[in-house]
Amino acid sequence: MTEYEFTCPECGQHIEINGPMRTAILSNGCPICSEAVGDESFAPA
Ligand SMILES: [Zn+2]
Repeated sequence: MTEYEFTCPECGQHIEINGPMRTAILSNGCPICSEAVGDESFAPA
């Protein structure tokens, strides 16, 4: 289920994600380029 839209500020990747994926990206960085990202990279879907 899509809960958030993630847009990477580094590589521009746009991904529709759910809550657990958001937590994982905040912990591990962008799944594409590994750049660290913050709350501002997520928008409610
Ligand atoms: Zn990225």
